[in-house]
Amino acid sequence: MAVSFADAIALFENTLTGKGQAGPDLDGAGKLGPLVVTKLKQLHRIGWIEFATLPSDEVGEVANGRLRISQAFNHDVVAVALIAVHEAAHAVIPWKDTEYYVDGEVRCRRLEISFYEELLAARRLPAQGRQARELEKQKELAKKDQLIDFVLSMKQYADQVKPRWIKRTIREQRWRGLGNRWPSSKRLFVHVLAGELPVPDAEMILEILHSSLDKPLEFTSILPLKDHDPDMIRIRKALATGGLMAKPEARRRLEQVEKRSGRSLGLPVSVR
Ligand SMILES: [Zn+2]
Repeated sequence: MAVSFADAIALFENTLTGKGQAGPDLDGAGKLGPLVVTKLKQLHRIGWIEFATLPSDEVGEVANGRLRISQAFNHDVVAVALIAVHEAAHAVIPWKDTEYYVDGEVRCRRLEISFYEELLAARRLPAQGRQARELEKQKELAKKDQLIDFVLSMKQYADQVKPRWIKRTIREQRWRGLGNRWPSSKRLFVHVLAGELPVPDAEMILEILHSSLDKPLEFTSILPLKDHDPDMIRIRKALATGGLMAKPEARRRLEQVEKRSGRSLGLPVSVR
């Protein structure tokens, strides 16, 4: 017999995360947990939580307001609760535009992980090893504030990243700042910033590259491997035309990056 959604909701409602004594906040609206409990109950009351046949790589989704959970989990109340909490959080977090898509995903995962940690302490694990392993990995990343890097390593989220979001993220040192970013995130940031219109922010691109100065091996992950790669040409052009040469400090940093990375970055493309 398939598990009851009421049981799954009750499981969450009775945790500290569900009661709002643990887990992430929703800006200006207090803890996310209780808001998700309310949403889950609302959806359940009108029959809008259901099992569905989803693609094998999807565990759940919110579509047209309905929360759908993969049929594959219908005998596991712990798994269903974890999925339902994550998806209902999506329905609670307002997305003003695509820029919030990535932040929202991180927040949903933090809520799910907070819930998972309590389940773990109570020795109630999801039956499928894969789901537990996935959550275990994300739990460790969340501790290091690198859940964002994990999210950005997925194409559907990477595709949503805009220059404005990157610059704010760096300026506000979110998730412990640039020094805590995976090289793959830095690569994405540099790639997106180099394509910014009308004028790329050369200093911001330089700041990202400079943050790897003590880890020169990272440059092979951040920069395209070939000098004639269109992406590399764009990056070089952004740096060359960004007025960095006129600023002694910026110029010095660019020289440092060139030296450590072993790549030519500062001169106009036409000279090469
Ligand atoms: Zn999600």
